[in-house]
Amino acid sequence: MTTVWVYGFDQAAEPDKYVLGGKGANLAEMTRVGLPVPPGFTIPTSACHAYQKVNQLTEEMKQQVIDAIARVEETVGRKFGGNPPLLVSVRSGAPISMPGMMDTVLNLGLNDHTVEALAEEMGNRRFALDCHRRFIQMFGDVVLGIHSIRFEQILDDVKSIAGVKTDQELTADDLAQVISRYKVLVERETGEAFPEDPFTQLFMAIGAVFSSWDNPRAKVYRKVHEIPDSLGTAVNVQTMVFGNLGDDSGTGVAFTRNPSTGARGVFGEYLINAQGEDVVAGIRTPQPIAHLRDEMPEVYHQFIELCNTLEQHYKDVQDIEFTIQQGHLYLLQTRTAKRTAEAAVKIAVALVEEGVIDRATAVSRVDPDQLDQLLHPRLDPNAKVQVIATGLPASPGAASGVITFTADDAETRAQSGERVLLVRAETTPEDIHGILAAEGILTSRGGMTSHAAVVARGMGKPCICGCDSLQIDTVSKMLRVGETVLREGDLLSIDGGTGRVIVGDVPLTQPELSEELNQLLDWADGIRRLGVRANADTPEDALKSRQFGAGGVGLCRTEHMFMAADRVPVVQQMILAETPIDRQDALDQLLPMQQGDFYGILQAMDGLPVTIRLLDPPLHEFLPNLEKLIAREAMLRERSAWDLDNEETQSDLSAATQMLRRVRELHEQNPMLGHRGCRLGLTHPEVYEMQVRAIFQATAELQQHGYTPKPEIMIPLVGHVEELHRMRKMVEEVRQAVEGETGFSINCPVGTMIEVPRAALTAAEIAKEAEFFSFGTNDLTQTTFGYSRDDAEGKFLHQYVDGGILPQNPFQVLDADGVGQLVAMGTEGGRRTRPNLKVGICGEHGGEKRSIAFCDETGLDYVSCSPFRVPLARLAAAQAAL
Ligand code: ADP
Ligand code: MG
Ligand code: MG
Repeated sequence: MTTVWVYGFDQAAEPDKYVLGGKGANLAEMTRVGLPVPPGFTIPTSACHAYQKVNQLTEEMKQQVIDAIARVEETVGRKFGGNPPLLVSVRSGAPISMPGMMDTVLNLGLNDHTVEALAEEMGNRRFALDCHRRFIQMFGDVVLGIHSIRFEQILDDVKSIAGVKTDQELTADDLAQVISRYKVLVERETGEAFPEDPFTQLFMAIGAVFSSWDNPRAKVYRKVHEIPDSLGTAVNVQTMVFGNLGDDSGTGVAFTRNPSTGARGVFGEYLINAQGEDVVAGIRTPQPIAHLRDEMPEVYHQFIELCNTLEQHYKDVQDIEFTIQQGHLYLLQTRTAKRTAEAAVKIAVALVEEGVIDRATAVSRVDPDQLDQLLHPRLDPNAKVQVIATGLPASPGAASGVITFTADDAETRAQSGERVLLVRAETTPEDIHGILAAEGILTSRGGMTSHAAVVARGMGKPCICGCDSLQIDTVSKMLRVGETVLREGDLLSIDGGTGRVIVGDVPLTQPELSEELNQLLDWADGIRRLGVRANADTPEDALKSRQFGAGGVGLCRTEHMFMAADRVPVVQQMILAETPIDRQDALDQLLPMQQGDFYGILQAMDGLPVTIRLLDPPLHEFLPNLEKLIAREAMLRERSAWDLDNEETQSDLSAATQMLRRVRELHEQNPMLGHRGCRLGLTHPEVYEMQVRAIFQATAELQQHGYTPKPEIMIPLVGHVEELHRMRKMVEEVRQAVEGETGFSINCPVGTMIEVPRAALTAAEIAKEAEFFSFGTNDLTQTTFGYSRDDAEGKFLHQYVDGGILPQNPFQVLDADGVGQLVAMGTEGGRRTRPNLKVGICGEHGGEKRSIAFCDETGLDYVSCSPFRVPLARLAAAQAAL
């Protein structure tokens, strides 16, 4: 049985790009539809694999190529190596387009005889010689491995001898000179004469294109774009058409719509009297396609019509390569156009309005990840900027502000009304207030999943991480990059979408949901089953997420409210209190503050559910850093020894000593697994009681003002049903008390986070006490893998991912096989006890498309994510349901 090694463009019934490559499949498709494609054939990717094994074409392949050439000869009435001569291009074409990464040879089939035949046929010797010299140069470069520069040098030399500047000005005799010198170069470099036999040329070129699959730039491109090395490339052999036959000829590239803005109308460029690579090579400046209307009106109208046909046929925007030979238009390539996020949305909506695609298709066309680009303030694309360094684009959006080097400085300056950037070597959870205060964050260490990045993304703040060319000196508050030195207070900008660090201020454009994006998301809402809520801790975030289409708050973290500058002293007083009275005094101050917080958030989310999680982190997170405290205490101790009479120093010292003692007492070896969540609630009930009271009093107050608040109380870190049982009892007591005091009845479900494996394993039990579950997959991932996130991401996780030990970072993409099993089991167990148990997820995974798809499959009711990711989640949830 013979294997098929060749498919004529007119032979493939159902063109498959994995067999024919993208280019070959589309050439076949266009041929089938009857569009003007120069005839040719495709050697499939399977031949690439066969070739790679032995590094040559088999006899069987060669024979089939010879037969295929014969068919083309018949179709076009030309002869390969004969008169009139058939010339071909030999073009690469991978299943997934890798623009410019592999090689192409044009004008193949020329030799000393056929060049004369071509000259005679066209009545244009200069043209024939121009093709010949291009051919030798391309073949020499691509097939024989002689660097193109060597040929360019000869060309330049002949031009200067002739006293001309451009290739166009060279005469036929000049070109003949170039050709004979090219041949000498080839012979000197390879030890052999330039191959004259067209089939020898053809087989060598096909082999070279197969080999170009493994050239270094193609390998790098595949790695970056996650294209499997195993795909291989196809080779297309196609009859040449000539854009370099005079002023009624030309070549160009066009998009059926603007790929940057999405605007309607063909968008592209062309060059008169030029061939192939001239347009991209930038030798001459191409003309906008609109000029073609004046220069060649007929061709222009035909081309526009073909663009429409292609777009209608493929039902998407196309990127088209074309050539005009003496007034005849030929299509040489079409593919789905790459586009910006803005264009993707606009085009998807427009195609629905034009009746080309349906709504579901439009929803599936936009990558949720791309939406990220649209939802943060962005650098004005027209601004001229001075880039001093580039780091990892950790959180998109642009921000400008004065440089601050500590979280405290950031907060102080921000309070006095300045816009600040927080610049740190790395950030720790203690910097949270600085991050909160800053417009954006820049670090010299840490990766895309470092603390700074995670927190910044969660808050929708721009962030650049791992910008290792920055030398940050926190002590003298200076920042050095190469020659540039910047100090605290200097103006700096970051572009978190590209990782660029920019000196000075930059003009920003504010994000909003464009009309088209709203439309698309509207359609997505009609398709999705999953609810989408937001993780919001402030009324502003709640409002923003509501504008972005959130159906409620899935996670309101009360600890962020404790971090605000004016609260920290009161919170510290609460923690440090030695007596119940002291503590109650602090709680009495905190109560109205919290009540105000909850009032604002519940008001912003009026009528929609708001899940409020009671205090979660270990208490010492609110206290000063132990090491700093030790240093300060030592310093004060020394000073007071010298200055025994100074009362101020003495009292400072005693305060510092007391603080140090408490911080030491509260210090934990492993706070992540320590005294936090409901464990605090059970051992320090007065803190949770205060929070619950604040929630209920805010609820009553809102009802009094005519609102419809829908609070839900969530108990964190439950591992045993008894923990929840007791917490619920406490909530119930406070509820009855507040109802009695206010006269309003308060409706508030109580549920729990599922974030330790034991909770998932005993979900059926826990559901007896829980009216809803929310999977806290950040902690659940930590506790399931047994990773401490901060340590894992800094130390070994990226090596695990790069080295392929883990397929991806489980803190970014939910680990479906492990953590996901606990989610599935917990959901199933919970619903066994309580069939209509509401189940959501509120880890960072709630805003990641693959994890969202998993949640949909697993039957969760909703995902909750940061406000800026709400639109993305709406889209991803719809795609999951399609
Ligand atoms: P790439 O994948 O790098 O775009 P192509 O195989 O598309 O490489 O070839 C590059 C250019 O060469 C095309 O855009 C076209 O202008 C020109 N070209 C290729 N084949 C032919 C042909 N048969 N006739 C005329 N020009 C061609
Ligand atoms: Mg191309
Ligand atoms: Mg947690």
